[in-house]
Amino acid sequence: MPKKQKINILWFTKNLRTRDSETLSNIMREDLPFLALYVFDTDFFNQMQYGCRKIGKYRARFLLESVEDLKENLAGQNISLLVKQGKTEDVFKNIAKEFEIVKIFCQEEWTKEEISLQTKIKDVLPSVTWEKFYQQFLVHPFFVFKNSGEIPMLFTTFRQNIEKNLLIRPEFESAGMRYHNKTEIYFNSDEVTLRSLGFDDFETDKRSAFPFSGGEREALKRLDFYFSETKNLSRYKETRNGLTGTEYSSKFSAWLADGSLSAVTVYHEIKRYEEKFGSNESTYWLIFELLWRDFFRYTSLQHRDLIFRKNGIAHQPYSADPDDELIRQWKEGKTASDFVNAHMLDLRHTGWMSNRGRQNVASYFCKILKQDWRIGASYFEEWLIDYDVHSNYGNWMYLGGVGNDHRNRTFNPEKQAEIYDPNHKFRTLWLKQ
Ligand SMILES: Cc1cc2nc3c(=O)[nH]c(=O)nc-3n(C[C@H](O)[C@H](O)[C@H](O)COP(=O)(O)OP(=O)(O)OC[C@H]3O[C@@H](n4cnc5c(N)ncnc54)[C@H](O)[C@@H]3O)c2cc1C
Repeated sequence: MPKKQKINILWFTKNLRTRDSETLSNIMREDLPFLALYVFDTDFFNQMQYGCRKIGKYRARFLLESVEDLKENLAGQNISLLVKQGKTEDVFKNIAKEFEIVKIFCQEEWTKEEISLQTKIKDVLPSVTWEKFYQQFLVHPFFVFKNSGEIPMLFTTFRQNIEKNLLIRPEFESAGMRYHNKTEIYFNSDEVTLRSLGFDDFETDKRSAFPFSGGEREALKRLDFYFSETKNLSRYKETRNGLTGTEYSSKFSAWLADGSLSAVTVYHEIKRYEEKFGSNESTYWLIFELLWRDFFRYTSLQHRDLIFRKNGIAHQPYSADPDDELIRQWKEGKTASDFVNAHMLDLRHTGWMSNRGRQNVASYFCKILKQDWRIGASYFEEWLIDYDVHSNYGNWMYLGGVGNDHRNRTFNPEKQAEIYDPNHKFRTLWLKQ
């Protein structure tokens, strides 16, 4: 039997970008040719938890757009992306029938589903070498663990530890590298569509706060618009708690979640902006929020599967009175609070909800309806366009009183509505049409 050609694989997961890509930069320096791969994993698309899908139509469409854009961006660097739909381990097994896979380059992950997927690949390819990179953080783990040791329970302590002499790595110059492919590695991509993933096509609701489009180029366009074109960054702190319209917060979250935008890129763009247009509390505050994002990643890195347990990382007793009817009313926007209802309808019709809305509806679910916070988190997981395991479970634990700060705080939706929706503009948008 002729010897199989040796190759490496660049396996894209939640790092759907070419700019500031450590995996891409590193694999291009290797001697062996490589195959770039993205798999729409059928197990993941079929899976259910607490009666919810693991991914809903909004994020699925966004993901399709992100992968399509990645394909085009890679093509610009002379790299073809193989896109498959199936079980990830089967895709790897089929590639291994034709080629000897030497190394797999991918993003480092530590949450249970991501680990279990890697284990399935390891089972079919036991002798492959893994090259994994922490490229989803703003502040690199080397720096954090040097300055912080254990990750503290409180965000303020975490932030103060790392803000001292804060060092953010430069961006990887991966997008500028051209691949000189010496070997033909040919496989047919699948035609993956919303329908093949199990969803009907749909139109974006006109009431959407922000009509998201997936992909790295859209992310960078938004960044440019929010920063230098409109200078909205200089008003971020005063506007970030808004509820209607495209400009009240950055809307970077969906791109950050699937990795088509890097937090490090955002940081350096803020610094460039500050040099050009001046710094103020708002320019600092966007970095502050990116540190929250990192904080929840470090929390899950430290506490692993505890973030999915009812008593959370705080091991706090959490009592719930299971009531399917109350849960249904919350999901459908039919609770006793019109402020909560408007936000829940926003989520259902657009895949989006503001941060203020998320805090209110989660607090209502946990503290007033007294339901298991993990059911609420699963519902968000299905419907949010920007779902991110660390930020979602971290924030839900927080509001359920079993997370980083377990003081028993409850949002009063009536008071919140008076402050944040005094003219009923947001509630009218969702409830009066
Ligand atoms: C119950 C609940 C669930 C949440 N689930 C998610 C989720 O699945 N995915 C997600 O990205 N965010 C989640 N968040 C955090 C936050 O609501 C969103 O990141 C934010 O609303 C996204 O809008 P933006 O990009 O315009 O944010 P901006 O205000 O412009 O902030 C910039 C970036 O900072 C980060 N950030 C801001 N606030 C937070 C926060 N509280 N926690 C973590 N990161 C933050 C995000 O990456 C965001 O894109 C959740 C919050 C709550 C209360």
